[in-house]
Amino acid sequence: MHVYLNGHYLAARDASISPLDRGFLFGDGIYEVVRAVDGRLIEAERHWKRLARSLRETRIERPLALGDDAVSGIALRLLEENGLMQGHALVYLEITRGSVSPRTHHFPPAGTAPTVFASAAAFTPFDGQRISGVPVILAPDERWARCDIKSVSLLPNILAKQQAAESGCREAWLVDGEGFVTEGTSSNAWIVDREGRLVTRPLGPAILGGVTRAVVLELAAAAGIATTERPFAVAEALEAREAFLTSTSSLVLPVTSIDGRPVANGRPGSTTRSLLAAYAHHAGLTLPWQEGDTAA
Ligand code: PMP
Repeated sequence: MHVYLNGHYLAARDASISPLDRGFLFGDGIYEVVRAVDGRLIEAERHWKRLARSLRETRIERPLALGDDAVSGIALRLLEENGLMQGHALVYLEITRGSVSPRTHHFPPAGTAPTVFASAAAFTPFDGQRISGVPVILAPDERWARCDIKSVSLLPNILAKQQAAESGCREAWLVDGEGFVTEGTSSNAWIVDREGRLVTRPLGPAILGGVTRAVVLELAAAAGIATTERPFAVAEALEAREAFLTSTSSLVLPVTSIDGRPVANGRPGSTTRSLLAAYAHHAGLTLPWQEGDTAA
């Protein structure tokens, strides 16, 4: 695998960073993940906008040479160098506050170069799960109060995701102190309520502003699907007509059970399926059940 590190493209085994890097010592860094399909970056502009926001909110200095076009250029070159111009891939980009000795919590001196790392890997879409849906568990949201920042400090997310995996589930839906679902460990959470309205938690410090979430909200509006951005409680999710999650890697993924209890009849709902189809159309993707379906 070829990766990008601080201006160089090199084999992953030859790439090294200092153990004094603040990403390693403190989790003092931010990241982005972008999907590529046949060498095309999906929603790159929104991802780079969120990247800029994460840098601003964490006050990590953006390298001057690392404008949006440069970042896209790195992503595309990694796709090429890794033979990923066909099919699906995920591009990972991380920027940390750099390294400085000795270890101290304060920011390093002005001018300390951030560490910039990027990689690209082939990615198999979850097509089977998109058709059958996935189970999720519920877990307490034990994260910090700035989940709107795409920080690499992901310990609570990792612990909850592992708990989900060990329960045979794809994702954990995180629940705040008032019993409301915030989001998944690496995805946004949605339901279709008893009135048929699409519901997802409003933007704010409790969730990451998902790029897929933003696109799905626009697609729902264009399709005339009534939508409310409001918190929903666990009890409401268990009574919902439909549930699904969204993320760059999962796209629109039906959630068919929550903590072992089926959502409605336990099968993907029609609103979920139509939003997935709308997303696929928007992004120029072919869904498994659409192949050869010229009527779609
Ligand atoms: N919430 C969290 C906590 C995430 O890690 C992700 C994945 N980046 C998302 C939501 C979904 O965001 P996106 O649609 O931009 O991938």
